[in-house]
Amino acid sequence: MLNLILFGPPGSGKGTQAKKLEEKFNLIHISTGDLFRYEIGNGTPLGLKAKEYMDKGQLVPDEVTIGMLQNKVDKHPEAKGFIFDGFPRTVPQAEALDAFLAEKDTAIAGLLMLDVDDDEVVARILNRGKDSGRSDDNDEAIIRNRIKVFNDQTAPIFDHYEKFGKSQKINGIGTIDEIFDRLSDAISDL
Ligand code: AMP
Repeated sequence: MLNLILFGPPGSGKGTQAKKLEEKFNLIHISTGDLFRYEIGNGTPLGLKAKEYMDKGQLVPDEVTIGMLQNKVDKHPEAKGFIFDGFPRTVPQAEALDAFLAEKDTAIAGLLMLDVDDDEVVARILNRGKDSGRSDDNDEAIIRNRIKVFNDQTAPIFDHYEKFGKSQKINGIGTIDEIFDRLSDAISDL
């Protein structure tokens, strides 16, 4: 299996790139943010709980998020691999993912971090917010909080996989196609 983590701050282009990579490499793309938005759209108890945190730009608790991710992976027993987008976002999530994949005799092959500076991601998210319909994309204070949460709680995951020589940074500035080519080259080299 080829299991990848597409990593980077909110607004770094993970979702856009994951959709293209999923097709090129024949992998299953799992975005925990999309899964939460789907639950919110259906008004489920999980969605209502997630919304409380998402509206403030905070992370949904690990016990909710990890179980949801595992259920989604288990729905694809035939998958050739997964692109994880927006997960893991805490070191305990990364540890749970590693243990879960190990039970399936597989592992993360690589973490690819889209490297984009804070001012650029704020500008991109505000622009996306014009038509994404996402309430967390429209308020600069909430966006800044999401970036702070990324730097405080999520960024250490880069080092977690770096210990195993699995982390790499990819320049996340450029056209969608340029960034896609950089990611594709890095994945082909894994
Ligand atoms: P995203 O679509 O990846 O930008 O995620 C939107 C929001 O969903 C985040 O700001 C969090 O509130 C929540 N979320 C998504 N993925 C996770 C995760 N792995 N752990 C905790 N919260 C998450």
